[in-house]
Amino acid sequence: MFCIASLSALEILDSRGRPTVKATCALRDGAAGAASVPSGASTGSSEALELRDGDPKRHAGLGCLQAVANVNRTIHHALQGASYGSQEDFDRAVLQLDGTPNKSRLGANAILAVSLAFARACAASREVPLYQHFADLIGAPLRSLPRPTINLFSGGKHAGGQAAIQDILVVPNAAQNMSEALADTCAVYHAAAQLILSKYGMRLLRADEGGLAPPFQQVEDMLSDAVEAISLAQLTPGRDMMLAVDIASTQFYREGKYFLTQAPLDSAGMIAQLTTWVAKYPIVSVEDGLAEEDWAHWPQLEASLSGKARVVGDDFLCTNPARIARAAAGKCANTLLLKVNQIGSLSEAMTACQLARAHGWQVTVSARSGETEDDWLADLAVGWSADQIKVGSITQSERLAKYNRLLEIEAATGLPIVRWPNP
Ligand code: PGA
Ligand code: ZN
Repeated sequence: MFCIASLSALEILDSRGRPTVKATCALRDGAAGAASVPSGASTGSSEALELRDGDPKRHAGLGCLQAVANVNRTIHHALQGASYGSQEDFDRAVLQLDGTPNKSRLGANAILAVSLAFARACAASREVPLYQHFADLIGAPLRSLPRPTINLFSGGKHAGGQAAIQDILVVPNAAQNMSEALADTCAVYHAAAQLILSKYGMRLLRADEGGLAPPFQQVEDMLSDAVEAISLAQLTPGRDMMLAVDIASTQFYREGKYFLTQAPLDSAGMIAQLTTWVAKYPIVSVEDGLAEEDWAHWPQLEASLSGKARVVGDDFLCTNPARIARAAAGKCANTLLLKVNQIGSLSEAMTACQLARAHGWQVTVSARSGETEDDWLADLAVGWSADQIKVGSITQSERLAKYNRLLEIEAATGLPIVRWPNP
């Protein structure tokens, strides 16, 4: 049993200079753990509610003082002195205290911060590394390190909206271990930066997750520049280095049409466009290819890309077990993008992960566009044997904290990096 001595929180700043919540959990046995929560920009409408103060005079209404107070007062007073045998028991107590379906009373940012802080405190109490503690929570042995998918170019809401789609990522496919994967990626990133300089005559502009964001005229430019950068780095596109795309299409979907360009596409047109790109470029995974509410057409997308590229649901699934179950039943996707703060507690994210696995899906553990220097995500991805991890670019310390933690875990465990799955 883990007996709570105290729960406390602090408002800190994330990588976009916006407030977020950091919580600390102290146990009666002297162990303690702290964790901070990330925040998205292209959020799904089914996400748990991030509680913001709404005071326009402070952080443009984005302050988290109310969420912090909910930890320091409500949650601390209710849980102090209580003992919990498991993460589920702890999370259940906090969720009952909240009592709303979308965590709007206490705030998903407050709830997830204490949920993660409790996990870290338990790992410290058990004297095991956090990744091992996460593996024990899910009841599976450590298996492998996730294969990283790493931002190269950005558009959409994470950049200036130059191109409608959000991210072109590279997948270091030939790399045999994490440090090789990062070395290959760095070579491509620096080659891409040179290419951008020569093509667009501009210094680096970086998007929220560190991706390069020159004024691309169209998506095809992003894809062909990515392939060219891989070749410039002396790697073979489609063999050493693959591409993944996050279309984030909900962001340009209005009244049943996709405004990828000025001329809108219907759902069938969008699927045809994605299928053409997958055939023409070495794309092995397509995230949010259709909008989150375009349920009727996701099965067609899945069928069209099947055997060629993974069909990943981010805003579409929102790490929400009910949406995952519906999507699996309808053969809408085959990979869960898992973002713990979309659902708002560790236990519920674990249920989502297990459900995806039960349907034979792959799992990509993902950071958010607003991140902190906290590195728990790397431990989570290893502990839950994620197939992929998506953290952003290889610049910016809030991203590197996770990559560097993966390198540490690799050194400590000697685990192999997971192979890219069959599409
Ligand atoms: P977000 O973007 O954190 O802004 O939601 C990340 C993603 O779409 O994968
Ligand atoms: Zn996404």
